[in-house]
Parts: sequence; C-alpha cells; structure tokens
Amino acid sequence: MAAKSLQRSSSPDIGGSASGRANGRERRPRAKDTASGSSGVAPAPHAGQGQGEGGAEPLALYIHWPFCLSRCPYCDFNAHVRERIDETRFRAALLAELAYEAARVGRRPLRSIFFGGGTPSLMSPATVAALLEAAIRAFPPAVAPEITLEANPTSVEAGKLAGFRDAGVNRVSLGLQALDDGALAVLGRRHTAAQALAALATARALFPRVSCDLIYARPGQTAAAWRAELRRALGFGLDHLSLYQLTIEPGTPFARLAARGTLVLPDADAQAALYEATESEAARAGLAAYEVSNYARPGAESRHNLAYWRYDDYAGIGPGAHGRIPVAGKPAATVRIRAPEAWAEAVERQGHGVRAEEPLAPRTRAREALLMGLRLAEGVEPARFRARTGIDLDDALEPEPLADAEAAGLVARTAAGGWRATRAGWLRLDALLPALVR
Ligand code: SF4
Repeated sequence: MAAKSLQRSSSPDIGGSASGRANGRERRPRAKDTASGSSGVAPAPHAGQGQGEGGAEPLALYIHWPFCLSRCPYCDFNAHVRERIDETRFRAALLAELAYEAARVGRRPLRSIFFGGGTPSLMSPATVAALLEAAIRAFPPAVAPEITLEANPTSVEAGKLAGFRDAGVNRVSLGLQALDDGALAVLGRRHTAAQALAALATARALFPRVSCDLIYARPGQTAAAWRAELRRALGFGLDHLSLYQLTIEPGTPFARLAARGTLVLPDADAQAALYEATESEAARAGLAAYEVSNYARPGAESRHNLAYWRYDDYAGIGPGAHGRIPVAGKPAATVRIRAPEAWAEAVERQGHGVRAEEPLAPRTRAREALLMGLRLAEGVEPARFRARTGIDLDDALEPEPLADAEAAGLVARTAAGGWRATRAGWLRLDALLPALVR
C-alpha cells in the first residue's frame, strides 16, 4: 500500500541487498541518526518480556493481502489488480496457512499482527475478524498484541475503518503518501488530499494508535512545501510516521519514465534539504527517528516492525510473504508463492503455499541481523546478536572498513559495546552495509 520504492517493513525479505527489502519489502534506507545514540525506542517484548508458557519467545505474524484497486507507477511490491476478487477463497486459504504455521511453529504467544499488501483495507472487516480470531486462538498472547492494518484513504476504505476497529485492529497505518493533489496524481494514487485528511481524522477518532506513510523527494518538491505537508499531518497529533524517500525501482513505470528523462527526482542538495525538513518537523512534533525511515514518540514505535529490525522470529502468510522462524528446531527462511491464484491453488492442494524453505546458517543470520539492526538508532548489541546468530558481533564485521567507517563518523560504538550507524552513516547506508558486513 505504501511507497514501495522505498523500503517498507511488513514482511521483510532480508536475504539480499543492503537496502534490505525489509518489511517484506522494505524501502531504501533514508537518512537519519541520533547523534546521542539514544534512540528513545521503548523495549519491545523480547524474550523475557511478555513470554508465554514455557518461556516461548513471542511471535510476530505478517498477513499479506495481495490485491490493489490499481497499480501505482513507483511500486514493486507483490500487488495485483483483479476485476473481481474471490474474497471467500482467499480468506479460506489464509486461514489454512495460519493453521499450517500454527501446527509447525507450536504454541507461542502472539506479539503482533501486521496486515500488509497490496491493500489489506480492501478486505472486509469480517475477513479481518476471522483471521484475528484464528491467530489469537493459535498463538494465545500473554499481553495485548499490537494489531496493525494498512489502509488506503479512499472513501470506501475509510468507511470500513470502524469495522476494522470492531474486528480487533488497534493500530492503523494510513497510506497517505502526499497531501497535495498534484503529487497524488503523479504518484498514481486514487485518493485526493481532502480524502486523505478526512481518513486521518476518522482514524484518529477510532484508533488509539495511528501511523501515516508519506513519500518525499518527489519530482519538483520543495522543502517549504514538504514542511507544510508534514505539519498538516502532524497537526492530527500522530505518534508515528513512516517517511520514505522516493526511489526508482527497476521494472516500474517510473523507471521507464526516468530512463526517458521525463521523470526527474530532486538532486542531492535538494534531497538533503528535504531530509533536513523531515527531521526537524518530526522533532518539532516530538517524534524521533528510531529507524532510517520511521519516526515515533517514545513508546509508540511499531512493535511489529521492530521484530524485523531486531531480528526476532516472525511468520508470514499469504502470497509472497516471508518468514524467519525455526523449522524442525532450526532457524529457517520461508517464502510463499508470489502469484495470488497459484498460491491459493497450492494451499488448496497441500495446505500451504510455501515456495522455499531454507535453513539459515549462522553466517547468514549474522549478515541479516546486521543489515536490519544497523537501520535502527539503537544499533546492534553484542550479547543479543550472539544469542540470535551464534556469531560474535565483531566477527561479523569487516575490521578495516569498520575502522574507516568509525573514523569517518559513519558508525559508533553503543554503550553496551555494540555498533550503530550514525546519522551520517544512515545517509550512506546502501553503500556502507555491503562494505561492513561479512
Ligand atoms: S496501493 Fe498497491 S500498487 Fe499502490 S503502492 Fe500500495 S501496494 Fe503498491
């Protein structure tokens, strides 16, 4: 739903690039840092917190709804447009995959659920309710789980927000993307700025927690205009924002326009000014960057997305969803079939749509944990890193590039002897990570 070109955090496929398709997707890291090293990030329910019977680690669950009303020209997510969607069929398939995951993962307390897509607000509240009920039955939570649903602000979808709340959703992430009608048209969005603001007001009235996605560094965008947009959004008293810098993803219509020279993004100086505006407006409203593209008031960080960045376990169901969960007691990466109909057929045939399931060797886990963890202001701590990966943090980093990066002020030690990327490092994360990570 959100800006894809940027990296987003719903069910990350972190296997590959430094830009980390996290959030099952993920967007390209944008800049920022906390010079102090203090992220303000509230402790997420790690092992030891909110544990269930037997001390099982809490589980984050991602549910992918792959359909959209139309295809945004910058988007490379696993999103599909269909004239008609057989919601009953896809609901049944998601419930079957949930039962499959529950049987093999075992009883673990639910930490969070994230409905991402695609456009999950196209689902009916009844489908959301059925999935939540099944998930909570399969993974009884020890404390109230965070339940997020991504929603687009078209009038039809905004009209369903009360139904989603009644179904059990307690956090909504609105894909506003812009508060300017011209920019929304360029981005191929189906809503207007007035609809975005109306949806925001409705969401704030209905949900205790509301986040918004906005895209910046759009063609022709000025820092002054961006500041005005941010102030409008922040004027609703938001406690969380995901602010993604527009990037051109290969194979998208934007990539073709850019190749022809008809789509031109702001140059480096303009991007820096836009980034500066992003930081200062968020800070003015009391929101700190706790991840390269995510800002929150202390305690309002996305618990679900922190599970990706802290390299906790998560299960992903639905077309193309990724997971990092133990399989037969060993850490593994799971990925589902991407095409919705092929995925549904596989689920109907065999009870799941898993396309690949690969054991994760310690070195791979170490690499993934670093690619995710250095996106966080809090950085990566050595004891936890060792416990999650089986490798010492300093053995997972290239010593010479690390020393150079430290001397250049791109990385710094944390208080616990770990590493974090500085603000300057965040600005160069795409280049920095491949050099640092073994
Ligand atoms: S609404 Fe759909 S096509 Fe548009 S950005 Fe979101 S996932 Fe992509």
